[in-house]
Amino acid sequence: MEFFKDKFSEVFETIFESVSEGIIVVNTNQKIATVNGAAAEMFGYEHNELVGLPLDTLIPKDYRKQHKGHVSKFMEHSDKRKMGKGRDLYGARKDGTSFPVEAGLNPFMVEGRRYVMAIVTDITDRKNYTENLERTVRERTSQLTEALEKEKDLNELKTKFLSLVSHEFKTPLSGILTSATLIGKYTETVQQQKREKHLRTIQNKVKYLNNIINDFLSIERLESGKVNYKFSSFPLSKVINEVIYDANTHLKEGQKILYPEQIDAIEIDFDEKILVLVLTNLVNNAVKYSPEHTEVAVKVIPRDKELDIAVIDQGIGIPNEEQKFIFNRYFRAANVLTNQGTGIGLNIVKSHLQNLGGSITFSSEEGKGSIFTITIPTP
Ligand code: ADP
Repeated sequence: MEFFKDKFSEVFETIFESVSEGIIVVNTNQKIATVNGAAAEMFGYEHNELVGLPLDTLIPKDYRKQHKGHVSKFMEHSDKRKMGKGRDLYGARKDGTSFPVEAGLNPFMVEGRRYVMAIVTDITDRKNYTENLERTVRERTSQLTEALEKEKDLNELKTKFLSLVSHEFKTPLSGILTSATLIGKYTETVQQQKREKHLRTIQNKVKYLNNIINDFLSIERLESGKVNYKFSSFPLSKVINEVIYDANTHLKEGQKILYPEQIDAIEIDFDEKILVLVLTNLVNNAVKYSPEHTEVAVKVIPRDKELDIAVIDQGIGIPNEEQKFIFNRYFRAANVLTNQGTGIGLNIVKSHLQNLGGSITFSSEEGKGSIFTITIPTP
């Protein structure tokens, strides 16, 4: 307190020493003229240790250059100013550690000499609090954005479902109605064949509608993360037979599905229902997108720790420029728009396979045919 001794009263000294902010008085040479106890303690020095030292002593090394410029400018213009607000300002303790501060700079004159009094506050707690708050806000915002995206996706799904239902359901439903009406008209015993034909039509269309609903439920479960996979051990031939048997009921004139060879001994460990869903989608597509009198072949290629199942058709194929979109939800290529479909099947198939450590690839040539190959792990 040497500096103020004969200039100010004891009252002032008491105030100077009892405020909780650190007070540092600097002369025009940027040397420390005096500090109060709070400032010395804040920077980790003894009370009088700082007097006469350059102000730089209290500034972290990395900030010194920048700081010197600021102070000289301030000395020239010397208006009151707050520092540290909105931009990072740090103090350096004697032990070399640094801490965030806010400083109010107040110039004043004593006996024709200019001084600056810096009132310094350690804002470590406030900064930590603000940083934590900012982090929490960022986390919450991203959670909310994600929830909103999910909500939007589910809403879009509902809207899509309604528009597809009104579109995709109408044709099969009116087909079912027609077949049912016609069955009622075939009363003669000899008309049994016709009755059976219409019954098959009804069964197929009901299955088709059921598949669409299952596909939508599948998306909904995949989206909301509610899929529960069930692994079990089963013979591959059981699933293949079931899928091909079902697909055989809606073949076109002269179409044939070829069974894979030598698969009786293959036992796999997978989610059986999902494998049925995947292969049903692929075989049904192969049949749907192939003309009459063509063959669809199912091939099984066991490999080390993996098994490939390929579905090969001689159908309309996928236009080159559209192949990259084929697994996008609701995507349907331009050459299939007269066929019924929703563009959901392959998207679900891919998601399920990915979730189960498998994968799907394809190659296709428009007008020649397609090969869809799935790979599943066989540990
Ligand atoms: P959907 O068959 O209901 O339209 P998918 O998701 O099963 O939906 O298939 C998406 C699109 O991929 C189909 O609309 C079609 O353009 C194309 N596609 C799938 N499989 C074949 C195939 N075997 N041959 C030709 N195009 C196919």
